Amino acid sequence: DLGVRSYGQLESKDIFIAVKTTRKYHKSRLELLIQTWVSQAKQQTYIFTDGEDKELQLINLINTNCSAAHTRQALCCKMSVEYDKFIESQKKWFCHVDDDNYVILPSLLKLLSSYHHSQDVYLGRPRSRVMDRSVMVSVRFWFATGGAGFCISRGLALKMSPWASLGNFISTAEKIRLPDDCTIGYIIEALLEVTLTHTHLFHSHLENLQKLPTDTVLDQVTLSYGGFENTRNVVGLVGGFSLTEDPTRFKTVHCLLYPDTYWCPKLKGG
Ligand code: UDP
Ligand code: MN
Repeated sequence: DLGVRSYGQLESKDIFIAVKTTRKYHKSRLELLIQTWVSQAKQQTYIFTDGEDKELQLINLINTNCSAAHTRQALCCKMSVEYDKFIESQKKWFCHVDDDNYVILPSLLKLLSSYHHSQDVYLGRPRSRVMDRSVMVSVRFWFATGGAGFCISRGLALKMSPWASLGNFISTAEKIRLPDDCTIGYIIEALLEVTLTHTHLFHSHLENLQKLPTDTVLDQVTLSYGGFENTRNVVGLVGGFSLTEDPTRFKTVHCLLYPDTYWCPKLKGG
């Protein structure tokens, strides 16, 4: 169990992991996460959704009451609730992922333990954006791709409060008319002038996941699947499950990390 592991001073219970989902993906996406990595981090994982689900009793499920539409407003509404719940939690690190991400918990702990939560730290896979404030002034900033996951230290999160807490996040996003992940980057890089720490250990399905060297997959912090150039975009790991049995490869990854899991194929000759 990750719960007993700690690198330096940081323990897994110090991390708040927010998973963004929507009611219609509870069966098709969330269930797989609960079966795999979330099962190793039940106490610190919080699922932000938009509908009730009586079948999900043993996990922290938060009904944001945000709209279930895939609109900027609805997604920013969820991010705003994630932020407020994190502040309330007193945990040291805020990490956000989507419901098509696998979080490799030992790698996440290892990465975060090389920073201090009271410093200004914003970690993620970089994308850049130019925003025209008017015809005359434009501002360029980096933001961490939401679909790959990102982390923010408590020290920095507290500084974001005027633009992020108690519904302010929604008005900030409305003002600049950018998606939730861009808005986070805007607040941090453009307003607070704290730079994104670029890391390529976070992965979304915007990249070709098959290109990730298989011997480095378990060292990554997040993985994803699907949606790249219409091909089957998954990490190229082989193991006890066929592509039909494990189309996302998340079960395969999970069994390599936690081979004692009861549903993992038993290793031959072991
Ligand atoms: N999502 C949501 N409401 C919706 C559609 C999607 O909250 O109406 C969430 C979804 O659960 C996921 C994230 O938004 O965590 C990104 O959705 P998806 O992977 O479908 O799209 P992408 O932007 O990655 O192509
Ligand atoms: Mn996605």
